[in-house]
Amino acid sequence: MRFASLGSGSEGNGLVVECGDTRVLIDCGFSVRDTSARLARLGLAPTDLTAILVTHEHSDHVGGVPAFAARHGIAVWATFGTLAAVADRFEGMERVYGFDGHETFAIGALAITPVPVPHDAREPVQYVIGDGAHHLGVLTDLGVSTAHVEACLTGCDALVLECNHDVDLLEKGSYPRPLKQRIAGRLGHLDNGAAAELLRNIDTSRLVHIVAAHLSRENNTPELARTALCGALGCSGDWIGIADQAQGFDWREL
Ligand SMILES: [Zn+2]
Ligand SMILES: [Zn+2]
Repeated sequence: MRFASLGSGSEGNGLVVECGDTRVLIDCGFSVRDTSARLARLGLAPTDLTAILVTHEHSDHVGGVPAFAARHGIAVWATFGTLAAVADRFEGMERVYGFDGHETFAIGALAITPVPVPHDAREPVQYVIGDGAHHLGVLTDLGVSTAHVEACLTGCDALVLECNHDVDLLEKGSYPRPLKQRIAGRLGHLDNGAAAELLRNIDTSRLVHIVAAHLSRENNTPELARTALCGALGCSGDWIGIADQAQGFDWREL
């Protein structure tokens, strides 16, 4: 299994997981043309994708999905709640499938385990993806961690983990008060300290990749995210990867 990011942040997200001939794209927040260009950087064509998995209906995640899936005839999977929230955008499209947010299902060679998360969307999930030998946990867009989230992520071999903001930078920054409250709230986004706390609560003994994701440009820096995560893991800062908005990150193997 290997995985790579097309880009990560509030302006668009996309993460590819590959095992043999199976390739799933988790979310697509980019235009049709931009998505193709970002896939090409990873050596992929749109038709190499088996399916698109959607996490929730916010535009940085689902915004590019209907047009890209329709253009290239790619299957789309989302929770029934997410599908209900975006039904009009998928009208008339075939191969759009709902799933139960508490049940593991298979797409080709990959086992997909949805992880329900607290976030201000209809039925948001994140994912743990397995190939029979290894597990990759992808966790962004949640306000707080939960016992269920931690039970799902414990023992993973790789994690892509939201480090959205630094609490002090958000508080002192220029965002309007209601937006600050939304981001910092229980249905908002995970801050660096909360991401570090999550790592302290789970078994990270198998971890060979950790990538900080969905960083706010205004309210965080890669250095602050790295410092928080390596403090929890007891590792050096250069071991912590950063998924950025423009480049995402290159293939990582498990
Ligand atoms: Zn997002
Ligand atoms: Zn969101």
